[in-house]
Amino acid sequence: MSTSTPTLVAARSRAHGPAAALWHAVEVHRPAAEVDAACELALCGALARVDVDQPWPPAAPDVCPACATA
Ligand SMILES: [Zn+2]
Repeated sequence: MSTSTPTLVAARSRAHGPAAALWHAVEVHRPAAEVDAACELALCGALARVDVDQPWPPAAPDVCPACATA
């Protein structure tokens, strides 16, 4: 058994009706390259598309408040 630290990557949700697109945090247990552009469940429960080009936490202002404090 090896202990691995979960890695948080940034993921972008889609704008849905009045809800704006936000950056979420997704916990990945695989190399980031394997989950790039995949739709994953964010920490807050939203579905978001992983963007490994974006660091977490992102410098952008539109960050999901639930994920930012998780
Ligand atoms: Zn979120």
